[in-house]
Order: sequence, then structure tokens, then C-alpha cells
Amino acid sequence: MARLRYSGRMRKLLASAALVAVLLPSAAHAWWEKGHRLVAEIAWDHLTPVARKNVQFLLGKESLADIASWPDVYRPSVTQTGNWHFTDIPSDTDKYDRDRDCPVQPGVKKGSYNDKVRDCATDRIPFFETIVADQNADPSERATALKFLVHFVGDIHQPFHASGVEKGGNGIIVTAFGQPTCSSYATTSKCNLHAIWDGFLIDRRKFSDKQYLKMLEGDIKANSVQAGPIDPVAWTEQSKMISDAGMVPSGADIDEAYYQKFIPAIDRQLELGGLRLAAELNAAFTQPPHTFKPVDPEKAEAEREAASKQPKK
Ligand SMILES: [Zn+2]
Repeated sequence: MARLRYSGRMRKLLASAALVAVLLPSAAHAWWEKGHRLVAEIAWDHLTPVARKNVQFLLGKESLADIASWPDVYRPSVTQTGNWHFTDIPSDTDKYDRDRDCPVQPGVKKGSYNDKVRDCATDRIPFFETIVADQNADPSERATALKFLVHFVGDIHQPFHASGVEKGGNGIIVTAFGQPTCSSYATTSKCNLHAIWDGFLIDRRKFSDKQYLKMLEGDIKANSVQAGPIDPVAWTEQSKMISDAGMVPSGADIDEAYYQKFIPAIDRQLELGGLRLAAELNAAFTQPPHTFKPVDPEKAEAEREAASKQPKK
């Protein structure tokens, strides 16, 4: 694969991301956290041996599940990354339109040389996959890209991360089983529809990660659930359709009937998110990891000089 060229800006961003990754503890209270972990666990189960070796090479002691929520912790440090977690498809359509739904980066002109990747999940998934797959890139940059990739594949499978309606349902205030709050940690903020899908419905299953994983893997097997093609646009559009089905007006109560109706869709999204992440990583990691040797600028200069002094034949 050709050596990727990063802009100075992207290099700086990835370098500062790598630094923050070292400084910050893992996300204890990130949204959709259990969902992210489960997607990562399923992906790990379905990786090829060579892909697993590459993941271990890049992440060291950390597992895919350990790093799955890191971009949520990192998000406040570099605000531009905030838009990478979702894609806003408007209310009247289920079709993704890149120009409409994926903002151009700040300071970049649409269609210009630098307008290669934009600021939404649907664009960032293939972008970070390319960096992850680049064996010639610096491993610390690839590790950071892997953390983003794992997270955004999880995010785009949370249906309300593909909806621009009321900021992905954040603006739709609801009650949950008659209660005004629906989160064990945001106990004072009012419950909204996004939070219901981020955590409340999953938590209501009352499964440990281990129990939940076992159930999902059993379902994948029993129903021969397949990842299908690697197609982030299709994944985004499928999510948008589910969010449309789950839409309620402000003031609605999320009750047992709503939970029973939509928990199978959430489970399937977790399964698909995991299988599709595995498909991406299996495609990215086809060679055993090899040690990256950074170019020594002084040595390279000396070699160039020596070469220029050679008599021309
Ligand atoms: Zn996120």
C-alpha cells in the first residue's frame, strides 16, 4: 500500500491524541459505553489470527474493548473530533448525501486538495481504516487511528448517531418508565431519546458484559448473522431507518412495550457493529506486524551527499 501523506495539521492532531491517550484514564462514564465494549468484544472474537497479532502489536496490553470508548474521553480536548462521532441525515430521508450530511473541515474549501476527508462518522471510518492498514505509518499514529475506527464503527451502529433529527434525539425529552431521568450517572439531567438508545435500553437487559456477549454470539450463530460488504454509507442509512422507526415526540414515555419492540434491533446492531468491525480489521491486517523504522534525517542527508559525490557513469 502506498505511503500515506498526512497534512501537518493531521500529524499534530494524531500526535496530541496519542499524548492524551497516555494521560487520560479510560472512559468510565461515556455514552453507549457498554455498546462500544460489546461491539469491540464481538469484533475480537471474529478476527483472523494475523489481525489479532496486529491489534496486539498496536495496542500493547490494552484490548479492543479497553480502548473502545477512548474517543469520547478525548473529544473535549479537540473539539473538531466531536463531529466525527455521528452523521446527521435529516428527517425526510434515509439516504446519505455527503455534501449535505458531512461537514467540510474548518478552514478547508469544498472540493479543494485538502477536502479528502470530512467531519462525520461515515467519512472518518474509511479514513482511519486506511491509516490503520498502512504498514509504513508510525505505529503510534496507527494505534490512535485504530482507537478512532473501533469507536466510530460502534457509534454509527447506534441508530440515533445517524439521525440529524433534534441532534440525534438529544433534543427529544422523554420519560423512562415514568421517571424524568434515565441514567445512573447523569442523575439530574432530563432523559432524552438519544440517551435511551445510548444506554438505558441496553442497561435494562441487566446483563453483565460476559452474559450479554454470550447471548449475542449465540444469536449470531443461530441466525447466521453476516457482516455483509464493508460499506459505511449503507451502515449509516440502515441506522437512520431504525432511528426513524424508534422516533417518538417530546414528552413520550419509554415503556415496557417500547423496550420489547426495540431491544432486538439494538442487539442486532451490536452484532452487526462487531462483525463489520472485524471485517474491516481483517481486511486492514493481512500481513504480520513488522517493526517501524523511522528515517534518520542526518543519516539520509549523509547518504544523499555521498551519492552525489559518486562519479556519474
Ligand atoms: Zn462517540
